[in-house]
Amino acid sequence: MRSCPTLTAYGRHYCAPPRRLVSLTFTSLHRHNSAQFLNFSLFTAFRSPFSRMETPKLDSIGLEQFQTGTGLTGNKAMVENLKRFGVISSKKVAKVMEALDRGLFVPAGSSAYADTPLPIGYNATISAPHMHAMCLQLLEDKLQPGMRALDVGSGTGYLTGCFALMVGAEGRVVGVDHIPQLVDMSIKNVEKSVAASLLQKGSLSLHVGDGRKGWGEFAPYDAIHVGAAASEVPHALLDQLKPGGRMVIPVGTYFQELKVIDKSEDGSIKARTETSVRYVPLTSRVEQTGGF
Ligand code: SAH
Repeated sequence: MRSCPTLTAYGRHYCAPPRRLVSLTFTSLHRHNSAQFLNFSLFTAFRSPFSRMETPKLDSIGLEQFQTGTGLTGNKAMVENLKRFGVISSKKVAKVMEALDRGLFVPAGSSAYADTPLPIGYNATISAPHMHAMCLQLLEDKLQPGMRALDVGSGTGYLTGCFALMVGAEGRVVGVDHIPQLVDMSIKNVEKSVAASLLQKGSLSLHVGDGRKGWGEFAPYDAIHVGAAASEVPHALLDQLKPGGRMVIPVGTYFQELKVIDKSEDGSIKARTETSVRYVPLTSRVEQTGGF
């Protein structure tokens, strides 16, 4: 028997985590209720640059492999761990995350393969791998070959690159970020990666712009992902979502929820909450950078 309170959602029982832990770890523990995953999350919390706590000694769940590189290492080990702890259940998402090396997208010297968000400059972060995996899975049905996707707040370009690998050369993926230096960096990152040919052929593009306005040029989109928390869902993004399409967007200020928004064929909108999260805000460039 589980000793934690349970939630019922979509016909499944989840174990409700203590609220404090969720905000500390930037994760959704309620889908992963094994003691092992809890340890894994505590581990990542203690490794987080946002935490001042010491890394605890954990030896039960292969963290030695994860850290020291015995057995699998690097990107492959990261994906294997996400699979092992139930974060990744989709074969295609695993394949794409294995193919696109996260190490090419983070600043030199960062712990590229640890399950933690990392600073990328300009008061922004690359999200933790488990959040990328979760968003890819939530959007998987709308990232089929040939489909169109918009990634608002594309930052390093990592998730935009994953989207491009999901939809392939016949699809169209657009990343938008309002910091020109991040967009330049994301293009360089993608150029080093397996998604380079998609950028070259034009099925993937990265642009400077205010993502709250979406990117009208290639709308409507089957999938829209927003990588920064909006105080409310921007109307332009709802307008640019195709009937039958899905948007994943963190909404809120201090307390934030990852919303899954589905537009039906008749244009009506249904929203549900996936989990509690903590993202940087979807805001103006001046607000984010303090004007410098
Ligand atoms: N998803 C990316 C980055 C997440 S951080 C990754 O994982 O690498 C959030 C990003 O949103 C930052 O790069 C920030 O510059 C961007 N952002 C915030 N407000 C924005 C806005 N109004 N328009 C476009 N980008 C925005």
